[in-house]
Amino acid sequence: MTKKTLGYVHLEWACPNCQRKNLGPQKFCNGCGAPQPKDVEFVQAAQEELITDEAEIARAKAGPDVHCPYCGARNPADATFCGGCGGNLAEAEARKSSRVVGAHRDGPAPEVSCPACGTANPASAQVCLQCGANLTAKPAETPEHLPSAKPVSTLKGLPVLGLIGGFFVCVILAFLVYFFFIRTEELTGEVQAVSWTRSIPLLALGSVEYEGWLDEIPSDAEVGSCREEFRYTQDQPAPNAVEVCGTPYTVDTGSGFGEVVQDCEYQVYDDFCSYTVMDWTVFDEVTLTGSDLNPRWPDVNLLSNQREGDRQESYEVVFYADGRTYEYTTTDDYEFSQFTPGSRWLLNVNSLSAVTSIKKK
Ligand SMILES: [Zn+2]
Ligand SMILES: [Zn+2]
Ligand SMILES: [Zn+2]
Repeated sequence: MTKKTLGYVHLEWACPNCQRKNLGPQKFCNGCGAPQPKDVEFVQAAQEELITDEAEIARAKAGPDVHCPYCGARNPADATFCGGCGGNLAEAEARKSSRVVGAHRDGPAPEVSCPACGTANPASAQVCLQCGANLTAKPAETPEHLPSAKPVSTLKGLPVLGLIGGFFVCVILAFLVYFFFIRTEELTGEVQAVSWTRSIPLLALGSVEYEGWLDEIPSDAEVGSCREEFRYTQDQPAPNAVEVCGTPYTVDTGSGFGEVVQDCEYQVYDDFCSYTVMDWTVFDEVTLTGSDLNPRWPDVNLLSNQREGDRQESYEVVFYADGRTYEYTTTDDYEFSQFTPGSRWLLNVNSLSAVTSIKKK
């Protein structure tokens, strides 16, 4: 994720002394004149407008203000001596910063009704236009409401009941797996019939068309048509990337200004092309089957640009046990050679009547 700065806004603070709402950059209360104590948090204005004044933007970028260790007055980050008492600010404590104060409020805010006289006031008013009563700053929105600001644990909302339910589902699944696949019954079976299948795929060398990323196509391939396709997401912008950004939100810079930021990522698109190379592909398959104990491979007649693929063999035995038949399949030709008709075997049969293992008696 890349953090993109959209601009800066004024934050607000409420005087703990007289409850007056003050603009973030103000270091002294407009109502009672008290200096802003360092434990007062900056909060969002009801409606945030991006600042255009260069001097204010420079102050917002300067970093968190510091509080004088002698008189507590707030001073800019780069001040050496306190503007209130003249004390040395070398030991001054910086205001906390980087806290997400809420989603960027760029829409118009509803009017605020005066708690004293009920008059509707514009959201930006610090005191009632009618009676002069304080219109206290709004409390900060919790950062949990922001999708992009902070990862929210998804487990948090999951009730304990869900976990218990999940446990029982697991127990039931384990029981079903045991009942149908693991639990077996032992039977004695007699070989009633055998059959075998052997096949050989036939490959030919020819031009084959594939698709792939342009930079991964083999050098001897003939490249066909290409199209732009999404390949991966990265943090940094790139010329062939599409920018995808989350909801803008406001961060406390510690200077009375909020930085409006947006978390963005970049979806990179690349050339995805068809290409042709010479390759071996299956063009046919020859198969031979039988119902005796002497399996044979089918005959193969190949041209110069043809060859055999991976040979495949499969053997099936039908056992007769307790009045019914059971089928067993293997790819082992040595095991198959022992299934003399009439020979007796110990069969392990599961609940689905599938033979899971056998042993000669
Ligand atoms: Zn005050
Ligand atoms: Zn001071
Ligand atoms: Zn009023």
